Amino acid sequence: MTWNYPAEFFEDAWTHTFENAREVRGCPFCVCLGCRNSFSGDAVYFWTDFNDQGEPIKIRQPREKSTAHCPKCNQEAVLSNKDNDFPILNTEFVEQMSSYVTKQDYVENR
Ligand SMILES: [Zn+2]
Repeated sequence: MTWNYPAEFFEDAWTHTFENAREVRGCPFCVCLGCRNSFSGDAVYFWTDFNDQGEPIKIRQPREKSTAHCPKCNQEAVLSNKDNDFPILNTEFVEQMSSYVTKQDYVENR
């Protein structure tokens, strides 16, 4: 496969799928890099955060640094384009980004 973007670009985008409540909430269009479905950020109803002991917890009401779960497949792989320039409306980018993170086992290892 020929990548249309440098690996650093994919890596940077991937970091935005973590602790991303601020970017996902209120964003009209988000994509999941696991299942490649798209949805409104407000459709996300499940989030991961950490309790006072640093243990991961699942919550329904996100805090600022909660991590979104995809409402379709439940994976923590949601990317929005709020406050960044990732071309998530570009199908080719989404396909390549998804292939990249799947190839690196990023999605599976979360
Ligand atoms: Zn998904």
